[in-house]
Amino acid sequence: MQLTPSSPRPSGSTPGTEADRDAQRDAHRRAAPDRGRTLLGPALSLIHTGQTPTRSALTRALDVTRATAGAVTAELEALGLITVDSRPAGGGRGRPSHRLAIDPEGPVVIAGQIHADGLSVTLAGLGGLLEPPVHRPLPAATDPVRMLRAVAEAGAELARNSNRRCLGAALALPNPVTEPDGTALAALHFAWPSGTPVADLYDVEVGRADNGPRALDPLPTAIANDANLGALAEYRHGAGRGARHLLLVTSGHRGVGGALVIDGRLHTGSAGLALEVGHLTVDPQGRPCQCGNRGCLNSETDPDALFAAAGLTPDPDRPLLDQARELCRAAATDERARAAVEHVIDRLGLGLAGVANILNPDRVVLSGLHLDLLEAAPERLRAVVAERCLWGRSGRVPIVGAELAHGALAGAAELAWRPYLADPQSVVAVG
Ligand SMILES: [Zn+2]
Repeated sequence: MQLTPSSPRPSGSTPGTEADRDAQRDAHRRAAPDRGRTLLGPALSLIHTGQTPTRSALTRALDVTRATAGAVTAELEALGLITVDSRPAGGGRGRPSHRLAIDPEGPVVIAGQIHADGLSVTLAGLGGLLEPPVHRPLPAATDPVRMLRAVAEAGAELARNSNRRCLGAALALPNPVTEPDGTALAALHFAWPSGTPVADLYDVEVGRADNGPRALDPLPTAIANDANLGALAEYRHGAGRGARHLLLVTSGHRGVGGALVIDGRLHTGSAGLALEVGHLTVDPQGRPCQCGNRGCLNSETDPDALFAAAGLTPDPDRPLLDQARELCRAAATDERARAAVEHVIDRLGLGLAGVANILNPDRVVLSGLHLDLLEAAPERLRAVVAERCLWGRSGRVPIVGAELAHGALAGAAELAWRPYLADPQSVVAVG
């Protein structure tokens, strides 16, 4: 690859000798290909996150010359990752700039999720563009190999039936996942043995599955906690865009997860286990939690807790989260539902204030059932947080709802894309 280097910035100093200028030119020639290659990843990340819809925006964001930006976008287009549309956009003033977009025919990754109500899989292109997810029940047996095989095979079926190249697979799990070894800890939802090597098992199952002729073989795999992945996806494509210290708290199906993104990077602690906010005590006399304590955020603010507060029993044959969401909506007209929602909101507010006091985020994003609780009574939740939060009264940390319909899947896609965003030229490994 040959890329035009940036022009030297005018220094205002007197020109050097002929030998100086030759040395400078040589230095530029040597630096050019490396510099170009190192720009590909940042450029693709900017286009992937929708921050640079035109080539002139990319030129400014990378702080390079137009020629360099042109060479970088041409390379990304040649790799089949983006499209560069030079037709005038129309209506604008000044010289029109080439429009940049993710190539809709470009490669995909498999994104999967295992949760208490089943498994979900989809194919995802760059740009956070997910195909409609497929949902399936979990296998009757809860042993991890059976479950990971089921999600690997469901993803492989999608890849086989797609005519787009498939470059990786990643999976979101509802339990803590250690780094870097990828074991599941406290997998309370499925009674998996603590320390189950989920990353290795998933890799084996994806390797065994028939991912079709358009998939990289072996297909690289990755695995992470669902709340962490949801936070990453919201930061890049949803309600977290523009935040610097993003706290996400969620109750997807059972229990509560948390995650923190700082300046674009997930804060996962020394072993991948940071931000396990679910076991924060919000009512010492409260409901028993799977961890053995009482009144954890987990057991006080998840769908089960909402039903318990309403004195109702959910239908065991329907997804619990769907029923809990209906209960939140019923709060607008039903007194019993209203009282239950307020009871749970008060405990959620205590938990959010405690976490915000420690982390001082500049945005809090709520997803899963917590998003529905926020929508049912936004002022009440914000008031409880402000009351207890050291910074709430003055700092007014915004509490907003998640924007992505499938945050954990979108985050799994981010995880699978990570090596290619770091080095876009590595996509050429697949024909
Ligand atoms: Zn607990």
